[in-house]
Amino acid sequence: VLEARDLRKALGGREVLAGVDLEIRRGDVCVIIGPSGSGKSTLLRCLNRLLIADQGTILLDDQPFGYRPSGSAIRPEPERHLAERRRRVGMVFQRFELFPHYTALENVVLAPRHFGLVPRAGAREYGLALLRRVGLEQHADKYPHQLSGGQQQRVAIARTLAVEPEVILLDEPTSALDPELVNEVLSVIASLADEGMTMVIVSHEMDFARLVADRVVFMDAGRIIEDGAPDQIFSAPAHQRTQRFLAAIG
Ligand code: ATP
Ligand code: MG
Repeated sequence: VLEARDLRKALGGREVLAGVDLEIRRGDVCVIIGPSGSGKSTLLRCLNRLLIADQGTILLDDQPFGYRPSGSAIRPEPERHLAERRRRVGMVFQRFELFPHYTALENVVLAPRHFGLVPRAGAREYGLALLRRVGLEQHADKYPHQLSGGQQQRVAIARTLAVEPEVILLDEPTSALDPELVNEVLSVIASLADEGMTMVIVSHEMDFARLVADRVVFMDAGRIIEDGAPDQIFSAPAHQRTQRFLAAIG
């Protein structure tokens, strides 16, 4: 579905992505792990073209995503072509970023209304069905500040699902939450995985990664060091850097 080839990105004079190749296939649940500063968020942001890579290619169903190749250089695509591709590659952030002055339901139906995926008359039903999927139907008319962090993040997930993306990118979806709220969000993500949703998840939750991932990618210093089945990465990592990282986080 989504493929990155030789992605490179410098930020603040440092090479944050130093040539990343990653292929996400339909139905993949790919968990990216790695030390702080290794480029995980930068990679997700480039995949969604929130950030423009300096070099490399991103393909969505074999079509260039956000770039028009022009010789060896890459040229950013105009914004107006991007909305539809961004719809197909959804993003869930660490800090939920809900619109504070809209209810949960309004947050969820805003984008599908914008894309014309649902008629005005059906919008409430549509939104309620999505909120039901994340267990929040009964909170539809509350504002973000009336919801817990875990509930807000579940609304954010429903909002991402609302435009029927083909891939969802999640950047540390539980790391801004109090510990007792982590599981409700992880179980929503696990149920999406069961439904066959294609996801790329940056996470520090190793037990969760082991459970839901069919692939674990270890990044360090802007590169993918190791990419394999969770059992292999966690039980028998091939690289010393992976071993050291896993030992350090216990
Ligand atoms: P974490 O686990 O802490 O979230 P990460 O793997 O997501 O880390 P990134 O956020 O991708 O790491 O950042 C990689 C490096 O790029 C870091 O050293 C960071 O300081 C640097 N960086 C990120 N954004 C910028 C920016 N806008 N300007 C300068 N440097 C940046
Ligand atoms: Mg990050």
